[in-house]
Amino acid sequence: MSYDLVVIGTGPGGYVCAIRAAQLGLRTAVVEKRATHGGTCLNVGCIPSKALLHASEAFEDAGKHFADLGVIVGSPKLDLAKMMAFKDEGVAGNTKGVEFLLKKNKVDAFHGTARIAGAGRVEVISEDGGNRIIETRNIVIATGSDVAKLPGVTIDERIVVSSTGALALGQVPKKLVVIGAGVIGLELGSVWRRLGAEVTVVEYLDRVLPGMDGEVGKQFQRILEKQGIVFRLSSKVTGVDVGKKGAAVSVEPAAGGESETIQADVVLVAIGRTPYTEGLGLETVGVQTDSKGRIQTDSHYATNVTGIYAIGDVIAGPMLAHKAEDEGVAVAEILAGQSGHLNYGVIPNVVYTFPEVASVGRTEEELKKDGVAYNAGKFPFTANGRAKVNHTTDGFVKILADAKTDRVLGVHIVGADAGNLIAELAVAMEFGASAEDVARTCHAHPTLTEAVKEAALAVSKRAIHV
Ligand SMILES: Cc1cc2nc3c(=O)[nH]c(=O)nc-3n(C[C@H](O)[C@H](O)[C@H](O)COP(=O)(O)OP(=O)(O)OC[C@H]3O[C@@H](n4cnc5c(N)ncnc54)[C@H](O)[C@@H]3O)c2cc1C
Repeated sequence: MSYDLVVIGTGPGGYVCAIRAAQLGLRTAVVEKRATHGGTCLNVGCIPSKALLHASEAFEDAGKHFADLGVIVGSPKLDLAKMMAFKDEGVAGNTKGVEFLLKKNKVDAFHGTARIAGAGRVEVISEDGGNRIIETRNIVIATGSDVAKLPGVTIDERIVVSSTGALALGQVPKKLVVIGAGVIGLELGSVWRRLGAEVTVVEYLDRVLPGMDGEVGKQFQRILEKQGIVFRLSSKVTGVDVGKKGAAVSVEPAAGGESETIQADVVLVAIGRTPYTEGLGLETVGVQTDSKGRIQTDSHYATNVTGIYAIGDVIAGPMLAHKAEDEGVAVAEILAGQSGHLNYGVIPNVVYTFPEVASVGRTEEELKKDGVAYNAGKFPFTANGRAKVNHTTDGFVKILADAKTDRVLGVHIVGADAGNLIAELAVAMEFGASAEDVARTCHAHPTLTEAVKEAALAVSKRAIHV
């Protein structure tokens, strides 16, 4: 069996890469060790977490907000097993969709663990121990990432869980401790808070959502606190003692000091993810990795070994599904002789809580650090007609534009539907738009997008509705 391209891993990076390569006429195969395609994202990441965020938001709305709209449903009851079945159905629909797309594009799919046996040779070891060798001109490694472990803390997926366990709890914990105030911790913390858990988030740094705009982080933390999440910032977890019914989490100030214990029924470890290359045989062929275990590539996704490329979570850059997908397209186009490319300056980042948080481009902290002069235009959702009528006035839109050229450099939104609102700004930034361009674009009334237009007007201090 001989191919132009073998892709290892069928997460969003791998399966999209394979489809694009097949579209461009390359004879393509994929190897996946999971029973289903779609990788972390579809099986235990983006899709199941969004299903539970959607369902738990509906549960909270029914209990807390419907009556304000004149919709009287009484006190809603939780059928957690049914909610999990709803999530599983969404996952199955999506993973089957990928299987269908691979077939439709005539991509051969092998199930088993891939090991690079040498240049142009991929060994596939199936679950029953059988193996076969596939010959190929090129290999794209898209093996993704795995849960980062906290030293000394063992994840049993029962009491001490990773995101994977937190997506499948059999009952609502009375007390949930989340270690890490990043996207995954805050999304899953929100799910279980809405379903009735008391949630405490312990974070080593002095802020939530590290890496995102500081003002966004502050406001978002306040909103989550109002919703009932308790934050222990500048605090480190030094140990988790698991008992029969729960765990005692030892926490002390990050700077050192007295230790205290927080009792929890479930502890979610959400301190990040690490690149996954186990069993790939990188050492056999001499593929280089960096100090964080990420496969090193050049700007064309080529590793130091001819014919071996890598994309997605397993290389540097934000660990996001759409980043992996676009790298998959880019590398397929490069292999087909085209000039595939991804603009790393314009990758949106979304937190799917309520309200949502979305950002694209540079933060104020980054611009200050680089000495870039900028103007900031900010518009609160309290002044947006649609947000007002919908009772979704938490948050704001902030646009940062170059002080000299007015070019949009970054946009940061906290608010309902922020994940959809940010797309307009990503397009604007790809086209090198100025804040003036966004401000002069007619936005439909009454929509939340008018807050984007007003923030663009606010860059030159001429917002209308504040
Ligand atoms: C709880 C959670 C929520 C998330 N939510 C979002 C979100 O809302 N939006 C977003 O953009 N990102 C989200 N992410 C991140 C997103 O899932 C990843 O960025 C994305 O899946 C990376 O894609 P990938 O193709 O690089 O790797 P992966 O999706 O990790 O896929 C890699 C695949 O390779 C397979 N594999 C590994 N080694 C081998 C081998 N040797 N042989 C064969 N197969 C192998 C694995 O089984 C896996 O299926 C979330 C992650 C988690 C954990």
